[in-house]
Amino acid sequence: MSDDIPFDRKLDLVPGRADEVAPGVRRVLANNPSPFTFKGTVSYIVGRDPVAIIDPGPDDENHIAALLDAVRGATVTHLFVTHTHRDHSPAAARIKAATGAVTVAEGPHRAARALNIGEAKRLDASADMEFRPDLTLKDGEAVDGAGWSFVGVATPGHTMNHMAFALRGTDFLFCGDHVMGWSTPVVAPPDGAMSDYMASLHKLTQRRERIYLPGQGDIVRDGPRMVEHYIRHRQGREASILRRLEKGAADIPTLVRAIYIGLDPRLTGAAGLSVLAHLEDLVARGRVTTDGIPAISGTYRLASG
Ligand SMILES: [Zn+2]
Repeated sequence: MSDDIPFDRKLDLVPGRADEVAPGVRRVLANNPSPFTFKGTVSYIVGRDPVAIIDPGPDDENHIAALLDAVRGATVTHLFVTHTHRDHSPAAARIKAATGAVTVAEGPHRAARALNIGEAKRLDASADMEFRPDLTLKDGEAVDGAGWSFVGVATPGHTMNHMAFALRGTDFLFCGDHVMGWSTPVVAPPDGAMSDYMASLHKLTQRRERIYLPGQGDIVRDGPRMVEHYIRHRQGREASILRRLEKGAADIPTLVRAIYIGLDPRLTGAAGLSVLAHLEDLVARGRVTTDGIPAISGTYRLASG
């Protein structure tokens, strides 16, 4: 989908087996591979005892058992959640029940804007609407544990409550689905918004952490460089949309066909939503017009003048 970015699609992890990525940082792969999750969600365990878990993952019996097994004998004090997609947060409920840990996140799931007709269903399909963090973090706020301290880095765009967590005193940023080693994340209304997503990418270029530990895929050794690629990739996609619209008005399926060459057919719907995300941003900036509010079924044209 994005051949202009130097992705790493190797990830050699066995689901359910804890793998140490750095002293005091382990990861456990969930067995939920898909075109959207690559080989599966990656949960992280930070510390020895007590420990914190970042992104407990999907509500999957085996994954929950593997995480509880990996932390056996240690006290789990905190469950950090980067965002409330179903592959990241639902396991928090059962791990909290088993350990008494406090859940920490930016906030519950919310849409990026008011819903259009038919969108509520789509939001429900991907989002964990049940999750309510015990502790909500604002951008820049810290949570201290025994031997570790995390700072929340609000990174809305993929979802509006997306938050990355910087491990203080290290080069590590637990970046959820904001940046991934294997692909660009879906930015799809009504969950996400492209203008916020781009602002959150630019925000990371101002930070000092270099090593990104994503919610899917392998560790990104040079995070800021990957972010530069992401920014250029999205700018390129926007330019492609505008180029197509220079030839005349178009609907979203037409734009998808013009822009995504060789797309996995299973990702056509996601590609349409991604184009809608760009169009929302372009309409807000006055570059593109449509009838009424930007919708998946709308027709789009360049703004005159
Ligand atoms: Zn996600």
